[in-house]
Amino acid sequence: MSNNNIPTIKLLINGEFIESKTDQWRDVINPATQEVLARVPFATPDEINAAVANAKEAFKTWRKTPIGARARIFLKYQQLIRENMKELAAILTAEQGKTLADAEGDVFRGLEVVEHASAVGNLQLGELANNVAGGVDTYTLLQPLGVCAGITPFNFPAMIPLWMFPMAIATGNTFVLKPSEQDPMVTMRLVELALEAGIPPGVLNVIHGGVDAVNAICDHPDIKAVSFVGSTHVGTHVYNRASQAGKRVQCMMGAKNHAIVMPDANKEQTLNNLVGAAFGAAGQRCMALPVVILVGESRNWLPELARKAQTLKVSAGTEPGTDVGPVISTAALERINGLIQKGIDEGAELVLDGRNPEVPGYADGNFVGPTILAGVKPGMSVYDTEIFGPVLCVMEADSLDEAIDIINANPNGNGTAIFTRSGGIARRFQEDIDVGQVGINVPIPVPVPLFSFSGSRGSKLGDLGPYGKQVILFYTQTKTVTARWFDDDEQAAAVNTTITL
Ligand code: NAD
Repeated sequence: MSNNNIPTIKLLINGEFIESKTDQWRDVINPATQEVLARVPFATPDEINAAVANAKEAFKTWRKTPIGARARIFLKYQQLIRENMKELAAILTAEQGKTLADAEGDVFRGLEVVEHASAVGNLQLGELANNVAGGVDTYTLLQPLGVCAGITPFNFPAMIPLWMFPMAIATGNTFVLKPSEQDPMVTMRLVELALEAGIPPGVLNVIHGGVDAVNAICDHPDIKAVSFVGSTHVGTHVYNRASQAGKRVQCMMGAKNHAIVMPDANKEQTLNNLVGAAFGAAGQRCMALPVVILVGESRNWLPELARKAQTLKVSAGTEPGTDVGPVISTAALERINGLIQKGIDEGAELVLDGRNPEVPGYADGNFVGPTILAGVKPGMSVYDTEIFGPVLCVMEADSLDEAIDIINANPNGNGTAIFTRSGGIARRFQEDIDVGQVGINVPIPVPVPLFSFSGSRGSKLGDLGPYGKQVILFYTQTKTVTARWFDDDEQAAAVNTTITL
């Protein structure tokens, strides 16, 4: 059972925060200090079934709740998130490690989806064609599916849960969320605020756990749709297993995003953007830029890139001026340091070594400083693996076409960026690059919720992305009605005629 001095994370079932009866617990650890912040339960099968059963029961009434009533909850919710922004960011930084400014960004990007959910009346409109035949109209209803579930990763513990349950619930579904077991605390605070905003009992439920909880979600016959964000390995498993069980599934997965730097780019802006996108959040963003391809003369910018990277401050996310916080766990630290060594062993040139940095006051933290490997080639482990740490792989190309070919040959398709002053070059890149999210002088082109997140190829399974227009279709079933109504008098006349004949 749980140690008395350390708070336990609760399950949320039918509007009640309850203590799990499990005997399997895991520590939630501050990655800058190794302090144990809380203990998270691995929910029992009975608890998981209870969460789904309550969500199924709540769906009966929630699906018929008027649009305005649903929308007003999210209007209130966005206000509560704003009012509690500092507290949310502080919880997030303590358990995840990113800087307080980054943590506020994490919450804010989720808040934008909540704002979008509050406009659900405009988003969930059907279509109508009048007089498709004599006296016949055809129209569509976008109806909710039932119980939907979400499985989220550690790296955006505020934004990614908020990609999922607000849109699912706003469109009339009920929801079971399984947050990352590595940093569930900020997610739970957001869930508390969602209840305070008026989400009724059973409409939003939370279970915790790892492999078994995820498999139970994939298999449960009463769950109709699953949204997953996380690694490619796990996402592929979730996609196959949940699809096999007849569910609608969307999986946003791992990445290896490349930036192309053309020699005509604005040098200062480009290098600053690269440093931020490669090393910010300790490289633990699915839209980070861990590979840069320097085209032509821009290869001479490497020393300056390294100088800028070297000036970044590595420390706890709570320390003023920190640029690079710790990575999530000691296991992640070991993996990243191991990959750097493998890169050197496989022939890459270590231009900047961030391993084992001195971080005053945080000797036990999981720190890796900005690291740059040059001369990287496909086939090297540092290129073929998603490192998910503050490690930038530098490649070279003689032309835009050669750089585009490198990117298109990589199996991932989450994001990419080009830096150039030429509209013609930018347009050719936009046309020919086979990646779902493209930045033009924008290093991390995550679309705002008016659009949808649109990673592609190896970074995504399923047709429809999270949030925005696409997720309305993901969380609803289109029902098409073809209706013929008779005017009562005309109908009576028609009956009379028949009798006379
Ligand atoms: P992860 O795949 O390890 O974990 C994601 C979820 O799956 C967690 O809730 C975890 O409990 C569960 N899980 C872990 N191992 C499992 C297993 N063997 N079987 C079943 N479930 C399992 O991912 P992570 O390390 O938390 O997050 C980082 C990864 O997420 C990176 O690959 C990153 O690129 C990716 N990511 C992608 C996007 C995107 O939008 N494409 C966004 C954020 C993160």
